[in-house]
Parts: sequence; structure tokens; C-alpha cells
Amino acid sequence: MHEGVMQTWLDSSHLSANSMVYVEQMYELYLDDATSVGDEWREIFDQLPKVQGVSVETKHSEVRDLFAQLAKTKDRVVVSAADQADEKQVKVLQLINAFRFRGHQNANLDPLGIWDREKVRELSLEHHDLADVDKSKEFNVGSFAVGKDKMPLGDLYQALQQTYCGSIGAEYMHITDTDEKRWIQGKLESIKSKPSFSKEIKTRILKGLVAADGLEKYLGAKFPGAKRFSLEGGDALIPMIKEIIHAAGEQGQKEVVIGMAHRGRLNVLVNVLGKKAGELFEEFGGKVDPNLTAGDVKYHQGYSSDFETAGGNVHLALAFNPSHLEIVNPVVMGSVRARLDRRGCETGLKALPITVHGDSAIAGQGVVQETFNMSQTRAYKVGGTIRIVVNNQVGFTTSNSEDTRSTEYCTDIAKMVQAPILHVNSDDPEAVALVSQIAVDYRNKFNRDVVIDLVCYRRHGHNEADEPSATQPLMYKKVKKHPVPRALYVEQLKGENAISDDEVKGLMDDYRAILDKGECTVEEKRPMTQHSADWAPYLGHDWDIDYAKSIELEKLKDLGAKITSYPESHKLHSRVKKQYDERIKMLNGDKKLDWGFAETLAYADIVDRGTNIRLTGQDSGRGTFFHRHAVLHNQEDASTYTPLENVKEDQGRFEIYDAVLSEVGVLAFEYGYATAEPDSLVIWEAQFGDFANVAQVVIDQFISSGEQKWGRLCGLTMLLPHGYEGQGPEHSSARLERFLQLCADHNMQVCVPTTPAQVFNMIRRQSIRPMRRPLIVMTPKSLLRHPLAVSTMEELAEGTYQNIIGEIDDIAPKDVKRVVFCSGKVYYDLLDQRRKNEQNDVALVRVEQLYPFPHEEMDKVIEQYSHVKDFVWCQEEPQNQGAWYCSQHHFWNSIPSGANLTYAGRVASASPAVGYASVHAKEQQALVNDALTIK
Ligand code: AMP
Repeated sequence: MHEGVMQTWLDSSHLSANSMVYVEQMYELYLDDATSVGDEWREIFDQLPKVQGVSVETKHSEVRDLFAQLAKTKDRVVVSAADQADEKQVKVLQLINAFRFRGHQNANLDPLGIWDREKVRELSLEHHDLADVDKSKEFNVGSFAVGKDKMPLGDLYQALQQTYCGSIGAEYMHITDTDEKRWIQGKLESIKSKPSFSKEIKTRILKGLVAADGLEKYLGAKFPGAKRFSLEGGDALIPMIKEIIHAAGEQGQKEVVIGMAHRGRLNVLVNVLGKKAGELFEEFGGKVDPNLTAGDVKYHQGYSSDFETAGGNVHLALAFNPSHLEIVNPVVMGSVRARLDRRGCETGLKALPITVHGDSAIAGQGVVQETFNMSQTRAYKVGGTIRIVVNNQVGFTTSNSEDTRSTEYCTDIAKMVQAPILHVNSDDPEAVALVSQIAVDYRNKFNRDVVIDLVCYRRHGHNEADEPSATQPLMYKKVKKHPVPRALYVEQLKGENAISDDEVKGLMDDYRAILDKGECTVEEKRPMTQHSADWAPYLGHDWDIDYAKSIELEKLKDLGAKITSYPESHKLHSRVKKQYDERIKMLNGDKKLDWGFAETLAYADIVDRGTNIRLTGQDSGRGTFFHRHAVLHNQEDASTYTPLENVKEDQGRFEIYDAVLSEVGVLAFEYGYATAEPDSLVIWEAQFGDFANVAQVVIDQFISSGEQKWGRLCGLTMLLPHGYEGQGPEHSSARLERFLQLCADHNMQVCVPTTPAQVFNMIRRQSIRPMRRPLIVMTPKSLLRHPLAVSTMEELAEGTYQNIIGEIDDIAPKDVKRVVFCSGKVYYDLLDQRRKNEQNDVALVRVEQLYPFPHEEMDKVIEQYSHVKDFVWCQEEPQNQGAWYCSQHHFWNSIPSGANLTYAGRVASASPAVGYASVHAKEQQALVNDALTIK
């Protein structure tokens, strides 16, 4: 602390031993909110102990000691009795603090007026012993940002009520950062939460409400009884999103990606994105898109357009999404991250995600928590998401808040990342517009999430055929009598003489006329020019399209040399160093290549071609099984070095991140990334394959069917460790059968590579080939170090991914009596045992791509066994799992006519694997013997 400052303060204070009550109260205030006390006080309190930089309550005796100490060391300490005025002054500051903390609890948020909220005592003058004080008496207002130091008590109290208990309930005092709190206070307190908008903006807001209401009424009349998941009651969502886009555009945002569920979606599509009304009407009429094999209902559709703002055009994308609530949010974040990366923007100022949540869903769905947790991490940050809750006070179809959450607000989850939460009454559209602007300003300034809780209601039932009064009788009595938001705002504007009846009629007639013509209702819509990615090169290709496969051996060696080099000063752990030394031997031909090296060589080739790679997973830098070591940790100073980032000057970006401990959120994020970025190789790796179970919704609703439902290509690769090695039910199976069951229409590829050359070529194929479809890979565990699972540099350079691998031993086809088909690790068990048995009458054929099934390659391999009658499919998985049930029709198709196909594998089982290593070993031996025994 500066001596001078201290002296001034002590001289001018009323500090004395018997003023300690005053000091202690100031200290309490400081603990609640450091900004609520003056700088001089804060400087002193800042000296008290902290935990991790945060002030913690100190014993009051310690506070006293500190002041006694200060008093002793100063030349002069003014000693005066704590007078009545000091005490009241403290109370006034406490009153301000109380409003900042709890004003939202008595704010006027519920348009229906049915919330039963207790009066907060701390917001009364009585509670602070200020009821009897002369209201004209002036008090210092501390940091209350009204632009003056002092205010009469009466005026101050009124200002506090207007600011914190009007149509906006601001919850932000849970934020620790003082600057952020001060910033929010500045935004609200300076205008008492009451914006003064120009006529132009007021008209824009009104037009939004006219559009929101107008569309629903029109649809209701034109298609009575048809499901549309009306927005009515939450009409303010339309002007809100539009104001956000305008503000974002003015601040230089180039793209806005929106994610929302079905409620109000048609309204957003037409009145924000500018989908032509006629297109929507055609969909109501049953129009089918011939380009999509499956298609989707109209309230799941996405849309893209450009939107003009004062700061330039903003590209808008509404993400397609399934009915599963909240799952689209990480998809939107991933899409935004891809757009930011493409624009080289690390702050988030070039692309903005808006996610629209339901009040029950935001509290109920765990993926919301995951996205909050992801929001500031290296791999997933997007510079903050604006999250809007359309809080219609009804859970899913019928429930009350007492059944849908355990928290006061549905938005309490946002406090985990200290996001400010702005509750707003949807019947006050100007307050809605104000919080929209504040949200954009906050997000762009602090690059963090911000939440708007749009408190509204649902005018109809869950859908238009539903009867809401059956379960919500009191609420719907109110709803039926409640005027529509447009009408309320018109009344307000007329009261301000800001609009005439004729003008209102003109707006409504104009809107209706546009609908009658089936045109676009959004004035700001512009022809789309800002495609963030060009998908044209990837359209219309199937998995077997040709591409430049091979790579020169010298080039490969050069790449290998680059990714085995690291600065001399970078001291590796001895085990990692050993691996890198081994890799150099592999490079020199002294040793065959293992999996980890071949995989990283594929990445080296891809970034060398200028393509970006994004690889995330729970241990991806190192590799779950200590095999990748793409990130090298200096044992002396913990710094990291990533050889793949240093392949050459103008290489593609190599980004590898250890993911947050989530599956569903991160996989959805990567799906969003991959569907917005065709030119990067995007890979998600599960720690163990079965972990993907937790992300099943992403696999079912997006990865396997997004192209067929929505025409959205996605080149995402999933690496899923899979293999039966006695590790028990949970770490054996990546549930291959579930992926195979989802396979149709060539929607994705399911591969089980068994050699380092195969993984090298599979990864390159996925990146180089001009086709973007998901690639699901059963990756190995024990094969990572298996002496037989090795390859030569030449095998890598040859460049072909073999979808089928025929017999590799010297076994004459004419002697073969049985052909065993298999996939994955069990091949090596079979090979090993057959060699031990010295059998030359059994051929082993590996199916390295289970889907799309490579019929041609299989036919070529089988040609030589046309005399064989005995074919077996051997798998490690139980009979009801693995490939047997889903793929056997392909195996049957492959064998010569008249031949038989039998099964060798575990019996059907409820669990993927047994929990006892000894039982596992017996089962494994039995299935191998069974496969090799000729009957
Ligand atoms: P967006 O930037 O998401 O608004 O997309 C702009 C346009 O690019 C869309 O209208 C589509 O024509 C195309 N597009 C975007 N994403 C994909 C995708 N995953 N697959 C195919 N085409 C896409």
C-alpha cells in the first residue's frame, strides 16, 4: 500500500478503537462485494488473508488487529467517536448491496403474475434501520453507478427499485471478478435498467412482435390443428434474437449460429432467418425433398442466410436438430469453433453462438452442465455463448417447476461458470431488447457465457392439439385473458405518442400481405455470400472414390525424421525417450513400425499437405495406452513440445487436446465442428470404446443420420478402443454391433484395421479422399504392442487401405478346407494358434471394413477358395454382439453357392464380457479352437 494514500485516509476517517463496529460493517460489505466499499477501504481489506486470491472471512479480531497496527505506525490517527451518520451511511451501502444481490427476487418478471415470491426483507428500508431517516438526507452512494457520489435517501431507494426490481432481474453478484461486476452495474445502474430507444428501434421491436404473433395466427388459421409448436407467449424471442444479431453485426461479428429446439422454431426460421413463408407452407402441405433419403419434420429444419446490420452483413445458420433437447448446444458451439478457426479468430469476435433453451431442459439435461464446463477450456472455448431460456413456466408437456428442478431459477446451473443471468419479463420488449444488447456487449467484452431468462408463458398446449387447462387450470385461466405481447407494446407506444393506430394497422397489414404472397418477411435478409466453407468438392461421392493414394518412401522418411525430432533442451521422460528412440530405429529400417508411429506419420503427411487436424479425447496427447506421445512433456519445466506442429512452415494446423471428462458434450461438439469444416480432419477418441455409450444420442441422431435427414455431410472420425483382453465388461467392447445396426444408405464407414500400415492408410484416406462421411474405427489396445502387428515403411508408402486382407502365410488355396473370416484382434489369436497347430488347411481372411461392405475385394479374395464348402465367421464378442447378426448377410453373399457359413465365438450374453480374467482366457481359447477345428 502507498504510504500517502493510507495517511490521507486515516486522517480523514473516523477511525478509532470504538469505531470498530463501523469498520467491521465495512468489512462485511467488502466480503459480499469488494466494489461496494470505497477504494481506501478496499486497499486495507485487500491486505487481509486470501485463499487463492479470493477474500475469505477473517476473524474480526484480525481485522481489529490490522487497524490497531495501522494506527500505531502512522504519525497521526484521527480519533473520534463513531457517530450516528457513519452508522446510517453503512446501512445505506448495505441497502445498495442488498438490491444488487437480491433485487432480482422481487423483480417484476412474471408476465402472468402467478409466481408466488416472498418479499425480500433485505430490500426494505426497515430492515436496514433506515425507515425513520429523512428521505431527503443525502448519503454517499459508494459504487452505485448513477453518475453522482451522493443522493437523497428517497431518490436512491427509488433508483434501486427501478434498477433491480423492474422488468429485469439481474443476477450477477456471484461473479468474483470485480471488473465484471462493475461493468454490469455500469450498464444497469446508470440508466436504472430503463433504455431510451429511438423511434426507429422501437418500431423495429414492434415489427418483431407483429411478425411473431402474425405468423402463428396465420398458420393457426391456414393449417388448423397442425403441429407447429407455437411461440405464442414467448413472442419477444423474435425481437430479442434480431436485436442480438444487430448488436453482434455492429460489433464486427461475421457469423451467428443458432441452436434451438422445436418450440418457436418455425417462427425463428421465417421471422429471423428469412425462410420464405411459401416454403414453409409447402412443407405444411406435405412437400418432400427428393434429395434426402429420410428427410425430417419441419420443426427440426435448419437454415442459412445473410442478414444486414449497420456493421455489415452477418451470416446466419440455424442448426438442424433432433427432438432430443439441449443436445444441439454443443453442436452449435463446435460449429462456431470451426468458423472461428477458419477465420483465425481466437477471441470469438468473428462468430457468435446463440443457444435457445427450455426452462425445464436447461435444468434437467446434463449436457447443459457439460457445455458450461467446456466453455472456457482450450479445446472448446468459443469466446462465450449467449444462452436464451424461453421460460414458459411449463415443463415438457405439463409439469410445474416443483417437479422439474430443485433450484430457485431454472438458470442456476449457469452460476457454475459465474455467468451473469439476466431474467426479463417478456411483456416488456424494451427491457428484452436492453438485456439482448447487454448480453452481446458482455460476451464480446469478457468472452464468457451469458444467460437471458426470458420469462414468458405458453399460450397453447404442448402442441396445438393439446389442451393445457386439463393440467394447468389456474395458469390457463390467466393465459386466456392475457393480451398478446404485440397488443401490450402497442398500448405502451401509443401512451408515449410514439405510434398511431394507423401505423400499427399498416404494419400488421403489410406483414399479412407478405405472408399471402409467400415471400420473405425479414427486411434485413440479403443474398447469401459469406459461406464459411465450400462443400461443393465433397458432394456426390461415395466411399470408394479414387484418390492419390501412394506417398514416396523418401518423403515418408523425411516426415518421420521431423516428427521424431525435438529440441535438445527438451528433456523427455525415460519411457517416452525410449519410444522416440525406437521410432528412429523404425525409420531407419532397423525395426518394423508399430501402431503409434504409423498413426502419427499419417498425421504428419496430412498437415504437410496443408490440411488441418483436430484430435481430441480424454488422453489424446499421450494416448490412453501410452502409445501416441504426440505431445512431449519436458521433465524439467513441464513445458510441452508437439513435433507435429513443427513439420514445416506453411503446414496445416495440428491441434490435439486432452478433452474434458465428457463424452456426449464433446462428441456433439466435434460433430458440430466437422459439419462446419470439411477441409479439416476431425477426430474424436474415446478413452475406451464403451465410453461412447454415454454419447449414444449423438451417434444415433446426428452422426449416423444427419446426411440422410438434413443433407449435412460430416467427415468426423471416431477412434474407439475395442478388443477382448480380459479387462471385464466395461473395457472390452466399443459396441461394434450398435454401429453396424445403424448402417444403411452408405451413411458411414465402420473399419477395424489390424496393422500399422492399415491405420496409416485409413487415416490418410479419410482426409485425402473428397468424401465426407463419418468413420467409425475399432482401434486396438494390445495390438499396439503386438509383435505381429507391425508394418514396414514400404507398406505404408504403398498407400492403400485394404478393406479385405487375404491369407498372408504360405498356404496353398487348393489345400484349404475351411476359410475363417474375422475382424480385429482375434485375427492374431487365430494366426498364432494356427501356426502352433501347423495347420495348412485353414485360411484366414480379415474384414477390415465392415461397412460399406467391400464386396468386390471380398470376391477377389474368395475366388481362389471356390471349392471350399466350410466358411466360418469368428468373433470375440458374444453372439448377440459384434458383427455376426448385422453383417452375416454380407458374409453369406460372399461365399460360393452351396457353401455353409457357421459361427465361432462366445455364446450370447447380457454383458459385453465376463469380469474374470481366467474365464475370459478359457472362452477365448475355446472360440479360437472352434474356429480352427475342421469338422
Ligand atoms: P452454413 O455456413 O452452415 O450456414 O452453411 C452454408 C451452406 O453451406 C449451406 O446452406 C449448405 O449449402 C452448405 N453446407 C453447410 N454445411 C454443410 C454440410 N455439413 N454438408 C453439406 N453442405 C453444407
